[in-house]
Amino acid sequence: MLDSAPELLQLPNAHCLDSEQVLLELGSSATGLSPEEAETRLQTFGPNSLPERKPVSPIVRFLAQFNNVLIYFLLSAAIAAFILGHVIDASVIVAVVLINAIIGFLQEGKAEQALNALRDMIAPHANVLRGGVRQSLDVDRLVPGDVVLLEAGDKVPADMRVFSAHSCVVDESILTGESVPAAKGVLPVGEAAALGDRGSMLYSGTIVATGQARGVVVATGTTTEIGKISALMGGVQSLTTPLLQQINRFGELFTYFALGLSVLLFAFATLVRGYSPVDALMVVVALAVGVVPEGLPAVITITLAIGVQRMAQRHAIVRRLPAVETLGATSVICSDKTGTLTRNEMTARRFVTHQTHAQVAGVGYKPEGRIGDGLTVSGQTPASDEDLLFYNAALCNDADLKALDDNWHVLGDPMEGALVALAMKAGLDVEAVRQNWLRVDAIPFDAEHRYMATLHTTPDDGQWIFVKGAPERVLAMCENASADEWEGRIAQAAAQGERVLGFAARRAGAGASLDMQTVQHELQFLGIVGFIDPPREEAIAAIADCRTAGIAVKMITGDHRDTALAIARQLNLSDNPQAMTGAELDKVPDAMLPDVARNIAVFARTNPEHKLRIVRALQSRGDVVAMTGDGVNDAPSLKQANVGVAMGRKGTEAAKEAAEMVLGDDNFASIVAAVREGRTVYDNIRKVIAWTLPTNGGEAIAVVVALLLGLALPMTPAQILWINMVLTVTLGLVLAFEPPEPNVMTRPPRPANAPLLSRFLLWRVVFVSLLFTLGVFFIYYWAMWRGLGQDVARTMVVNTLVVMEIFYLFNVRYLHAPSISWRGIVGTPILLVALAAVTLAQIAFTYLPIMHTLFASQPVPLADGLVIIAIGVALLLILEVEKTLLGAGRLATE
Ligand code: ADP
Ligand code: MG
Repeated sequence: MLDSAPELLQLPNAHCLDSEQVLLELGSSATGLSPEEAETRLQTFGPNSLPERKPVSPIVRFLAQFNNVLIYFLLSAAIAAFILGHVIDASVIVAVVLINAIIGFLQEGKAEQALNALRDMIAPHANVLRGGVRQSLDVDRLVPGDVVLLEAGDKVPADMRVFSAHSCVVDESILTGESVPAAKGVLPVGEAAALGDRGSMLYSGTIVATGQARGVVVATGTTTEIGKISALMGGVQSLTTPLLQQINRFGELFTYFALGLSVLLFAFATLVRGYSPVDALMVVVALAVGVVPEGLPAVITITLAIGVQRMAQRHAIVRRLPAVETLGATSVICSDKTGTLTRNEMTARRFVTHQTHAQVAGVGYKPEGRIGDGLTVSGQTPASDEDLLFYNAALCNDADLKALDDNWHVLGDPMEGALVALAMKAGLDVEAVRQNWLRVDAIPFDAEHRYMATLHTTPDDGQWIFVKGAPERVLAMCENASADEWEGRIAQAAAQGERVLGFAARRAGAGASLDMQTVQHELQFLGIVGFIDPPREEAIAAIADCRTAGIAVKMITGDHRDTALAIARQLNLSDNPQAMTGAELDKVPDAMLPDVARNIAVFARTNPEHKLRIVRALQSRGDVVAMTGDGVNDAPSLKQANVGVAMGRKGTEAAKEAAEMVLGDDNFASIVAAVREGRTVYDNIRKVIAWTLPTNGGEAIAVVVALLLGLALPMTPAQILWINMVLTVTLGLVLAFEPPEPNVMTRPPRPANAPLLSRFLLWRVVFVSLLFTLGVFFIYYWAMWRGLGQDVARTMVVNTLVVMEIFYLFNVRYLHAPSISWRGIVGTPILLVALAAVTLAQIAFTYLPIMHTLFASQPVPLADGLVIIAIGVALLLILEVEKTLLGAGRLATE
C-alpha cells in the first residue's frame, strides 16, 4: 500500500506521463481507490474545496449602517444639540440612531445567512468509482487517486489525468480565457506544454462540453490550478436586486430632498418666524427625521430573504436574488416534459419486433413480469431479433438497477433502467452479459442526434454494434426496415403517451471503431419498445393554477410529437393543445415566430437551439419567460430566459450554473410554487412601502404646516424618532411575513414594466399622509382644548400616529380584497406578537417616568385614550370605503 504523504502524491508532470503510470504512482487503478483508502486519504489531504471568501467583518458591516447622509445629518444635529445644552435630545437622537443601526445590522445578517444556506443545498456531486462501484459523491470528498466519470455538462471537480475519453471536449475558458473548447484524450503531451495545451488533463472548474471521459484525480482543493489562481470560491450572494437598488436610490433622493427642505425651513423659521437657531435646528431635525424612511431598505431586504427561504422550502433554490422579483412577473413557463411534468419513473410496456407484438407486465423497476405470454432469450448467444433487442437493451445502456429490500432503484437514466429491467424479465443475466460482451467504444446519447451506439466484443471474438434512439432516427440509419412499415406502430404507442425507442444492431469487422458516419452501414432494425411515464399529479394541479393565474405553460421536449401531445392532454396543458415539431419550427420565419410561440403549447422533437428561438420569440412579445433545462446545450436558453430554471437532480452543472433557480426535486409544481412566492414577495414589498411612507408623510406635513402657520410643533424630534423606531422594528416587519393573499394565483401576472409605486399606491401614500396629518392636528387641538397641556397633547399625538399605523396596517394587508373579514381581523401570529410589542412600548412611553424624562411624555387620561382608538377605527373605515370605491383589485396592480 502506498504511503500517502501529500508530497508523494504531487504529480506536477502528470500531463506528460502515460496514464497507466499516473494511476500507478497515485496508488490507484482503473476501478478506483478502495473506500477505506479513500477515507484515509481524505484525512490526509483534507476536503476538496476552496476556502470561502472571507466574510466582511461584523464591525465593518456594523459601521456600514452609519454610512448614510441622513445619519451624518442626525449625528451632527445631536452634536449641535449637545453643545447648545439640549443633552437629553442629543442622547435620544444618538440612542435611536444606534438602535436603528443594530436592527439594520441584525436583519442584514439574517438575510445573508438565509442566502448562504441555499448554496449548500446545491452542492455539486461527482460520479466516482471506488472499489469498482460507481457512486455519486459530494465533490468535497474527492481525494487524489479517485477515479471520476465525466460526461457532457459536468463540471470537472478536481485536476485530473485522463485515462479514457470519448469525443471529449472541454470548455476551459474560466482557466485559460480561451473560448474555443479543447479536445481531451489519453495521449501524454510534452512536458513543457502550457496549461491550455495539456490535452491529457482535465482541470477543476472547467466544463465538459461534449463526450465522456474518465480521469484520475491528481490534485484537489487549493492545490488545483484554479485553487492556485484564486483562493476564492465565488457564489457569495450580493444582497441587492434591481428593485432594492431602485428603493435605495429613491431613499437617497428623499434624503437630499429632506435636507434641502430643511435648509429652507431653517431660514424660514429663523428669519420669518423669529425662532432661535437652537429651536429652529430642532424643528429641522424633526422634519428630516420625519421625511426619510430610514428603515425601509432593511425591511425590504428581509422581505426578499423570506421569499427566498419560502421558495427553498418548496424545493426552488434561488441562485440569484433578482429572480425572486422576476418570478412574480412570469407570464410563460416553458418546461421540459420528461421528469419535470412526468415522473420519470419509466416502465417498458410495449415490445414490438417484426414478428412479435407483446405487452410487458410488471410495475416500476422490479425485474418481474412476463413479456407477452412468456417471451425469453433463447440461449447463450442471440439467435433472433428478439434476442438481439434484449442484448441491445442490456448493453447499449449506462444504467444499473439496485435492489434495496425489494425496492428497485435506478442508477443512471430511468429509461435505461427500465431497459435493464426488461432484459432481466427476458431472463438475461445482465451483469454476466456486460462482462462477456465488453464495450470497446461508444457514441454517447445527446439531445442533438437522439441516439446512442456501442461497440462490443463477443466471447467468440466477434464484434457487434448496438444502436438505440428515437425510432425515426434509428430507422433512417437502417436498411432492412421502411419507415412506413413502422410509422403506424410507433404512432399507436405514442398516442397512448408512451415514450418510444427504436433498436438496431449489426455485426462489425474486427478492429472496427464507432463514429457517426460509419455506424449506419448495414444496420438492421430490430424493433421498438414503448415506455410509460405517467404525468406527475402535482404537475396537473400546478398547471391548473397557472391557467387561473394567466400564465401560459409550454412543453418543450425532445420526445415524439404524439407522445408529447398525449401527455399534454393528460396534463390539461391548454384547452386543445396544438403541437409542432422542431423541424416544422425551423420553417417558421422569424416574423411569424412570436405568434406561433404564443399559440402552440407543445414543441416536440426539439433540440436546444429551438428553445433559444422560442424564448426570444416570446420575449419579443413582452412575455416574461421562465425556462427549464438540464443539458449542457440548454445553457444559452437558460441564460436568455428571464428566469432560467435548472434541474437539481438530473441537471448538469453547466445548466445549474447558467440558471437563476435550481429545482431540488425537478418538479414542475415547484416552479409554480416559486412563482406564487414571487408574487407574494412583490405584493409584500408594495405593502411595506404603502404602509411605511404615509407615516413619514404625515409627520413631515405636520411639521411643515406647524412651522408655516406659526403653530407649536405637534411633536418633538425625539418623539418622531421614537415613532419611526418603534414602528419599524415591530409592525414594519410583519408585512415581510405576510402570507399570500387569497387571489395571488387567480389574477394575471403583473406587466413586466409595471412601476413599483402604481398609481393606486401613490394616491394611497398621499391620501393616507393627509389623513394622518388631520389626525395629528385633531388630537393635538382636542387635548389643548381640554386643557391637558402641551406635553400631554404631544404624547397623544405620538399615540395617535401609532394607533393609526396599526389600523392602517390591517387595511394594507389586503391590497386586493376587503380587510374586514374574519381572516383579516384575526391576523397572523407574528402580527399579534408585533401588536403586543407596540402596545407595551406605547404604554411604557406614556406612563413610565423615565420616558417622561427622555421624551417629555405625560400620562394620558383613559377617556382620551379611547378617542385615539376611535380615530384609528375611523381611519380604517374610511380606507375600506375608499378601497371598495376605487375597485382596489384592479387598481392595486395598475
Ligand atoms: P426529453 O425532452 O423527453 O427529455 P430527450 O432529449 O431526453 O427528450 O430525448 C429525446 C429522444 O431521444 C427521446 O424521445 C428518445 O427517443 C431518445 N433518447 C432519450 N434518451 C436516450 C438514451 N439514453 N439513449 C438513446 N436514445 C435516447
Ligand atoms: Mg431527457
